[in-house]
Amino acid sequence: MKNIAIIGAGMTGLSLAYNLQEHNITIFDKSWRPGGRVSTRKHNNYFFDHGAHYLSTNHSVNQLNEVISRYNLGQVIEIDFATDYSKNKKTRKKIIIGQNGMNSIPKSIFDNIKVKSYLNSKIIKISKNSNDLFSLFSEKEEFKNFDYVLICIPYLQSKELSKDLIDFTQIVSEPSYDPIHTVMLSYKNINNINIKAGLNLHKDVSFFMNQNIKFNELSDDCWVLNMSSEYTKNNISIDKYDLEKYAQSIFEKTFGIKKNEISFIKSHRWLFAQTKVSYNSISKKNWINSKDNKLFLSGDWVIGKSLSDAWDAGEKLSHYIKILSV
Ligand SMILES: Cc1cc2nc3c(=O)[nH]c(=O)nc-3n(C[C@H](O)[C@H](O)[C@H](O)COP(=O)(O)OP(=O)(O)OC[C@H]3O[C@@H](n4cnc5c(N)ncnc54)[C@H](O)[C@@H]3O)c2cc1C
Repeated sequence: MKNIAIIGAGMTGLSLAYNLQEHNITIFDKSWRPGGRVSTRKHNNYFFDHGAHYLSTNHSVNQLNEVISRYNLGQVIEIDFATDYSKNKKTRKKIIIGQNGMNSIPKSIFDNIKVKSYLNSKIIKISKNSNDLFSLFSEKEEFKNFDYVLICIPYLQSKELSKDLIDFTQIVSEPSYDPIHTVMLSYKNINNINIKAGLNLHKDVSFFMNQNIKFNELSDDCWVLNMSSEYTKNNISIDKYDLEKYAQSIFEKTFGIKKNEISFIKSHRWLFAQTKVSYNSISKKNWINSKDNKLFLSGDWVIGKSLSDAWDAGEKLSHYIKILSV
């Protein structure tokens, strides 16, 4: 049994923790809750999945489906979905959502695997000691004696954290991310909008999704808009008020909403929202490792841009760690 530190309790870190339970696992996250970009926000009486919106029914990561059904974490719903709203193209689409918002998926996995964890613990330094074991440092504490460290956070952040331990000159091409501004908005009365989610609402809004189809208890009409990555890049530091007003005006104009009082609006900037170029597509490799094979970097960015890719990346690395640690 090895002492393994996992940094990041998003879907990649949870996949590793799930697959390596025979070891002594400690998982760290800077946030107060697990899930990372699978994020459900509660504001007063409103709920918004403002990170990952749904899990596709046709992804090919069998183990994730097994975990979801084993712990009863998901429900399949069928909705009217605009494959391209601007061209009036729509279809009926089956999607998987969490039983209680998308974050209930990683949260329940985290609760079920019962590994040692430190939330609210941002790891700011990793060092290797003379006894060949790692120490991790948060702002307040040192955590000692790890045989392996698995960093499961966005690529640029993991590079910064491991730059003294991994030779990054070996990485010829680097993976990259697109940023996304998301806007959460709700109206006092239910709007008469038949289409519940879709792509290309407007040149600056790449995705929209109704939240009432996910949360039965909502009295107001709640929506999440993803601004396009192009718009987000060009307006990365935009004032939140200006962004929210702009998104609201697009939404109301597009759906012809004239007299309905807005009851809530808020936005969030995801700097590392979705993988643009995956590491595997440029290197054919499934992780980045230190020379001694003790420190590894993983994340959705290895394989692709979805939460099933994140699970897949963690699962692939776990097989290798199992071989190394016998
Ligand atoms: C707006 C948006 C919409 C999306 N929509 C979808 C969708 O509909 N369907 C889909 O499949 N995917 C979607 N995705 C992508 C999906 O959310 C991600 O691919 C997946 O959640 C990534 O998981 P991860 O574990 O690799 O990374 P993350 O979720 O980013 O997890 C990394 C974790 O590490 C923690 N962390 C970071 N630095 C440190 C540190 N120094 N110390 C300790 N902890 C640290 C973070 O708090 C976080 O919990 C969307 C993403 C965004 C942002």
